[in-house]
Amino acid sequence: MGLAIAHQLARRGEAVQVLSRRRSEAAGFVAAGMLAPHAEGLSGNLLALGQAALARVPHWVAQIEADSGVSCGLRPCGIVVPFTSAAERDAYPTVAWGEALDRTALEREVPGIGCAWQAGLLFAQDGQIDNRRQLMRALERACAGLGVQFQEGAEVLALERTAGGSGTGGALAAVHLRTAEGEEQRLPAQRAVLTCGAWSARLLPELPVFPVKGQMLSLQAPRQALSRVIFGPGTYLVPRSDGLVVVGATSEPQAGFSDGLTPAGQRQLQAGVASLLPEAISWPPMERWWGFRPCTPDEGPLLGDSPIPGLWLACGHHRNGVLLASITAELLSAAVLEPASSPADSIHWLNAFAWTRFRDRAQPSTRQT
Ligand SMILES: Cc1cc2nc3c(=O)[nH]c(=O)nc-3n(C[C@H](O)[C@H](O)[C@H](O)COP(=O)(O)OP(=O)(O)OC[C@H]3O[C@@H](n4cnc5c(N)ncnc54)[C@H](O)[C@@H]3O)c2cc1C
Repeated sequence: MGLAIAHQLARRGEAVQVLSRRRSEAAGFVAAGMLAPHAEGLSGNLLALGQAALARVPHWVAQIEADSGVSCGLRPCGIVVPFTSAAERDAYPTVAWGEALDRTALEREVPGIGCAWQAGLLFAQDGQIDNRRQLMRALERACAGLGVQFQEGAEVLALERTAGGSGTGGALAAVHLRTAEGEEQRLPAQRAVLTCGAWSARLLPELPVFPVKGQMLSLQAPRQALSRVIFGPGTYLVPRSDGLVVVGATSEPQAGFSDGLTPAGQRQLQAGVASLLPEAISWPPMERWWGFRPCTPDEGPLLGDSPIPGLWLACGHHRNGVLLASITAELLSAAVLEPASSPADSIHWLNAFAWTRFRDRAQPSTRQT
């Protein structure tokens, strides 16, 4: 989110600094890169936001590729969601957006799919982007080319506010940070966007953002072995164009910020691969990694205003942050630069995903007691 927003702001001629504690821990480098509002079975506002983001991806990627000179690895390859029965398929939240597949059609789309899967939905409009190897680097390069300043290894320790009247906190005045060299600094700042992913609540404890750990692995498949993404329950296979298949992912809210792989997590992924595509169990593993999704209680992001005037939020994107980066960058750059004149549909999204939906939700029960 930080890179995507910095890129849009820099395109509009703003001077931007990115303060990043550790780029390698970012979920942006962990994710599978699926662009999957339909395959994920989203609903309500989150589905609509995901669909709006998906529509923006080609133009957004073209901007990044033009500014960086490198490919982002966008593959509109379609995603197949398999089910054990037609009844299960027909009850899927996004069934209306997919092509219904029976077992024969499922085998045609995913040759070699496990025999437990009797039905499927093909979402031809969903796809993937190679976030780990291409998109993130392209964004960094695009930002650098547009003059964005990077402080890698800089941890924001606290947000300083001006003195507010009548007991309220004031506006953003500065951020306090520790540089990569270990020096503590005060950086005056009247405008900032908080994009700390799963760690966002450490700086603003009123934000209901918490980590959901995910473990991943990759396999080297014979080239062209798989053309569609397969999105099974608990496990998915995402084939890159060079034959690397990214396998994800565990979902471990109870793990907190615990580092490392676990035997149980890796076994879950292996079992998922064996069930979805039995032949893939013999493909050699290449890499294993993990990261933290920034989740909120309704699994939707926090976008726009924060409790501190001058500080905006772009966090809590949970399982869909790669997909939602395009629209998040558009909404936040408009909110920061033209707070009073954002277009009507931007205001709609900023209202729907305002952090206050959690504060307001908590209030009635407080009043009753
Ligand atoms: C296993 C897994 C699979 C996923 N698969 C997909 C997928 O297929 N499709 C999809 O759309 N999404 C996917 N996601 C979700 C997506 O990766 C996230 O929603 C998205 O990356 C969140 O972006 P972010 O910028 O908010 O957080 P991050 O990418 O985590 O970046 C946060 C950055 O903030 C920095 N930071 C934190 N605290 C501080 C501080 N105090 N000072 C300075 N810097 C700080 C961190 O070092 C980090 O670099 C997946 C996530 C995981 C973990």
